[in-house]
Amino acid sequence: MAANEIILAKYGEIALKGLNKKTFEDILMKNLRRRLRKVGAFSVTKAQSTIYIEPREDGQDIDSAIECVKKVFGIAAICRAKACEKNLEAISELAKTYLSDELSLANTFKVTAKRADKSFPMKSPEICMELGGVILDAFPNLTVDVHNPEVTVAVEIRDTHAYVHGDSIKGAGGLPVGSSGKALLLLSGGIDSPVAGYRMARRGVHISAIHYVSPPYTSDRAQLKVEALCRKMTEYCGNIAFFCVPFTEIQEEIKKNCPEEYFTIIMRRLMMKIAMKIAAQDNCSALVTGESIGQVASQTMEGITCTDAVCNIPVMRPLIAMDKTEIVETSREIDTFDISTLPYEDCCTVFTPRHPRVHPHLEEVEKAESNFDFEPLIEKAVAETEMKIFKIGDKVIL
Ligand code: ATP
Ligand code: MG
Repeated sequence: MAANEIILAKYGEIALKGLNKKTFEDILMKNLRRRLRKVGAFSVTKAQSTIYIEPREDGQDIDSAIECVKKVFGIAAICRAKACEKNLEAISELAKTYLSDELSLANTFKVTAKRADKSFPMKSPEICMELGGVILDAFPNLTVDVHNPEVTVAVEIRDTHAYVHGDSIKGAGGLPVGSSGKALLLLSGGIDSPVAGYRMARRGVHISAIHYVSPPYTSDRAQLKVEALCRKMTEYCGNIAFFCVPFTEIQEEIKKNCPEEYFTIIMRRLMMKIAMKIAAQDNCSALVTGESIGQVASQTMEGITCTDAVCNIPVMRPLIAMDKTEIVETSREIDTFDISTLPYEDCCTVFTPRHPRVHPHLEEVEKAESNFDFEPLIEKAVAETEMKIFKIGDKVIL
């Protein structure tokens, strides 16, 4: 009876939204449909804060659909369920057959019931009692444990059908991508910035990415690595516009014209100036970085103050208070870690000062960069920036 197996997806935070709940729901439905189109023929509908994902034809791969839905922000829980007629006999039969593998292997279980259709003649506790009795008769190995069951048999009585499912799977949480505007992520090839992008996307922010390259100091492989990260990130973030900025000349002029101890901070300020111009072109209202307080010399309070002094849009740093071990954990979860740890160099490591200023003052930094007019080079770098779009479902190639 695989034909009537369906996926029920439950909202997370969207459920708490008031009057503008529908806006969030609409974005979520659009995101789900777009993602599932890559997997197969599924219909996506919603009723009473639950989304129904049903195969439109036989032979659709439900496992792949679940893997896909698990990465869609805005979904808190996912249930693989089967539908039946709305009567206790049909529900009992379905529970016994559909969940027979789990039930025959377990020692304890409980039944939960949800009656979205209030006209159904039995109340939830009654459904639990009756169905619990049927299951105990059919599986003598089982006893009821309402606190810590090995298997939960869930029944949902809804408009047209009743649905039976086992334990639910955790969803990606957060808010649907696109519901919180758009931001430009400064994406290096390191561990941190992909995690920062993921974190922002999880709050509903649509991400574009900007990357600075300094050939011949940085190699083609370094850029390919960052493009691989972008492709990987589309699984959670949706389509990503990727901007690649030629940064060699600017770095060489910093080296020639500025005191060494300020190289990094000046470089970061120039990165921000370019990022703001690209953000304006791409309708991004904020910048995002993978910085974390105290991690390296430029990520001190004073360093951040000097960097932000050139910015006139917010710079969001979702990892600011995270430990490296926590960031690494997330990068493993989202599967960017193995790409990030490939050994190609980043432009930040070109001309790194031996003794960077750890607590720079803004006036000193402004003075240190005043020997050279970087504006024409900034304009040139922006004009020569190349853009590519990475789409959901693009293969990760290295
Ligand atoms: P990451 O692991 O993300 O590379 P990091 O700890 O190595 O971070 P830095 O190299 O100081 O730290 O960079 C801090 C932030 O600056 C990065 O998280 C990223 O947002 C941005 N950044 C660094 N290098 C680049 C680059 N080549 N292109 C775009 N953004 C960059
Ligand atoms: Mg880095």
